[in-house]
Order: sequence, then C-alpha cells, then structure tokens
Amino acid sequence: SHAAILAGSLNIPYLVNVPASVRQYDNGTDVILNTNKGYMLVNPTGEEIARTVARQERAAAEHEEALKVADQPAVTQDGHHVEIAANIANQDDAEKAVKLGAEAVGLLRSEFLYMERATEPTMDEQVKAYEGILGAMGKDRPVIIRTLDVGGDKPLAYLPLPREENPFLGERGVRIGINRPAMLRKQIRAILKAAHAGHARIMFPMISSLDEFRAVKKLVLEEQEKAGVTVEVGIMIEVPSAALLADHFAKEVDFFSIGTNDLTQYTLAVDRGHPKLAARIDGLHPAVLRLIDMTVKAANKEGKWTGICGSLASDPNAVPILVGL
Ligand code: PEP
Ligand code: MG
Repeated sequence: SHAAILAGSLNIPYLVNVPASVRQYDNGTDVILNTNKGYMLVNPTGEEIARTVARQERAAAEHEEALKVADQPAVTQDGHHVEIAANIANQDDAEKAVKLGAEAVGLLRSEFLYMERATEPTMDEQVKAYEGILGAMGKDRPVIIRTLDVGGDKPLAYLPLPREENPFLGERGVRIGINRPAMLRKQIRAILKAAHAGHARIMFPMISSLDEFRAVKKLVLEEQEKAGVTVEVGIMIEVPSAALLADHFAKEVDFFSIGTNDLTQYTLAVDRGHPKLAARIDGLHPAVLRLIDMTVKAANKEGKWTGICGSLASDPNAVPILVGL
C-alpha cells in the first residue's frame, strides 16, 4: 500500500496484518520488529537481542560501504549502464536522493502537494514546490513529475468522489484529470513554469487507452505553446491494456515507466492493499514479466526508453531479471 511505500522511504519499520492480541502488551515491553521478514518477537531473550543488534551493525556497515560508491554509475560486468533513479515525494527526499547517488528522479509522486489540506494548492504553491525539487536535483538530473494520482486508496478532502463499489477500477489517476481538466491544466501549467529550474518531464498515471493519452497530450501541447517551453511526456504502464498496446503508445510518447505495483494488482486481479492476499502480489509472476517484456520491446522498436517506477525495481531478487529484460 502507499502507506507502506512512504514508511519505507522514511526508514520507518512498518508491519501489517498483526493479530489484535498485540494490544495486550504494555508500553515498554521489549520487542524485536523485523519488517524485512515480516514478524514481531515479543520479550526476546538476551541471545535474540544480541543477534539482532549484530545484524543491525552488519547492515549499517554495509550501508556505509555502499555510500562510498554511491556516486559511481551502475554498470553491469558486460558494460551495460543502468540509470538509477529515486522515487520521491517532496524536496527533502530530493536532497536525500542526491546525497545517496541518484542519477535522476524516476517518479515524483505529486500527491504530496494535494493531500492533507482543505483546499487545492494554488499555482504559486505548486510552482514553488516544483522549483525547489528541480533545483535540488539540478539540470543534469531529470525529474519525472507524475501528475496527480489520487482516487482508489488515496482520497482528497476537497475532491468529493462518490463512493464506488470498486475504487481501484473507478475514477482514479488520470481519469480524475480528464474529468476535471481545469485541475490538471493548472498542474501542467505549474510544471512548465517551474521547468527552468532543472530538467522536468511529465508523466501520466493509469493510462489505459490511446484516447486518454491523446486527450492529456493535447492539454500539454496547448500549455507548452502558451509557455514557450517543451518537456518530454511519458506514461506509466500500470494497466495491462497499456502494456498490450505498448507498440501503439510507443509511437506517441517520449518514454514509458512501468508501475509494477498497479500492473501486478491489475494483471493478477489481487488488491494491492488486501491484508490476506498481499502475499500473492508477485511482481515476478510470469504474466507480469511478459507484459514488461512486451513493453520494453515495443519501446525499443520506436527508439524510446523504458524505466520502472514500481517497487519491484528496488527488490534485489528482481533486479537481475529486470536488467535482463
Ligand atoms: C505503481 O503503481 O507501480 C506506481 C509506481 O504508482 P503508485 O504506487 O503510486 O500507484
Ligand atoms: Mg500506480
């Protein structure tokens, strides 16, 4: 879920699907929380604590070692360079990403500007926020700004969306922008105004058919004309229909970014936030890998590039397969 993704980026251990009986323990009870493996150990023995502390020290030392080479390019042994970009949600994350060696921002979740407030952010607020992030990354590190991606599991206080039977299949992502073009146009205008501060790219979430992309691309072209600024425009491949039609999309977009979080839930028909089914969310499922393969091949054929912004890209088990694809 998004809460888990955000907690992860803040280094906050986060465990879900824990039995309600944990409430019976008093504050101050010793616990070991292992959120990599997904368990909590209550009243651990001295030996268990010592083992955990040793593991933490080892991880910290490995992290220090990794930091020493963080600003070097990531090149495979056979000489293939892979751009390593950060997923961020605000300017603090951008500054952290630069320190940790990010070569770009592959996904700026622009929701941060819109959430936890009672009114839509003003043009000025939006421009300032984007300028801050683009400036922090600098001209040499492109930033993919994803347009507002709410609905589904991300509600907005001032955007009353009707209760839906299936919110993930409802008014979500780019569908909201298409149904409320004024809000989307304002965001695009703000991005173009801020673009001078760095290297901005625009990306649309949850595109499922060509007419949707053409509608939002038209909006970008109109605003670019007015602003006298052009930026690259890409789409997320996170709905199976977009992957299946990738050869058509590839002719019209500048780039693809695969959103494996949603691509997996929509391909396997498993709700990404479902506590009982979460373990079935497998981004390495052959069906998902086939869609990724199709997407990359279609992009290559048109001389376009493909990135991955879903969490799968940060899974060490998945990286060799993704690089191979
Ligand atoms: C995705 O779906 O993979 C993605 C990166 O977008 P989000 O997690 O914000 O839905
Ligand atoms: Mg998504």
